[in-house]
Amino acid sequence: MPKYFDAHCHLQNATDIPGVLSRAESVGCAGCVCNATRPSDWNAVLEIGRVWSCVRCAIGVHPWYIGECSANWDVVFRQTLMTDKKIMVGEIGLDINHPDITAQERIMGTQMEIAHELSRPVWIHCVGAWDRVLHIIKSLGAHRPPVMIMHAFAGTPQILHQLMRYDDVYVSYSPMILDAHRTKLIDTVRTTPLNRILVESDGSDPAVVTDVVARIAEIHGIDTDTVANTVFKNIGGILSI
Ligand SMILES: [Zn+2]
Repeated sequence: MPKYFDAHCHLQNATDIPGVLSRAESVGCAGCVCNATRPSDWNAVLEIGRVWSCVRCAIGVHPWYIGECSANWDVVFRQTLMTDKKIMVGEIGLDINHPDITAQERIMGTQMEIAHELSRPVWIHCVGAWDRVLHIIKSLGAHRPPVMIMHAFAGTPQILHQLMRYDDVYVSYSPMILDAHRTKLIDTVRTTPLNRILVESDGSDPAVVTDVVARIAEIHGIDTDTVANTVFKNIGGILSI
């Protein structure tokens, strides 16, 4: 059976974590990266990682929740990351549909700098703000985090092309690509190099990544095992597993 890995989920929202993880295991999904969204869920996410060895953790401030940051959130953020070098950064990013894009940029920028300093991969959410995200990446220069994952990627082939100039950027496809009506997104999937693709549930049921891999294989016109093996190798390299 090919191996799968859910590169971005929110298990902290699952009502039955043992149930969803055993279902994931039964379809060949070896684990997942559980992303926090705000300071108040960092501990819950880290606790899930302590209990379940197949769960890797990322902590961060999602653009929807920047209003929940206390004055010293970044101090706590850095200190928490320093407790274990396996903790990654996510989910962070920009979302044009939510208020104060300038504050979002500042908070994302701080998290990108700390991720670089502590050498941690980052999981990035971007809605309607690709020019700004690309600007942040460019302006960081060599001070970029070691790996940047564009989660639930839904950009155009043009945005993909700009992102692929950076060897340290991956795009992660979610069940959104199962929607046959999203023809532009399917064009993007078709032009994405296999060695830069990850898959994710973006929810609380990691088993769904098997469907995402099957759809990528269909779009690329190659067999599912080849896609599964390459995508697993990609995430394995990022997580050192
Ligand atoms: Zn998410």
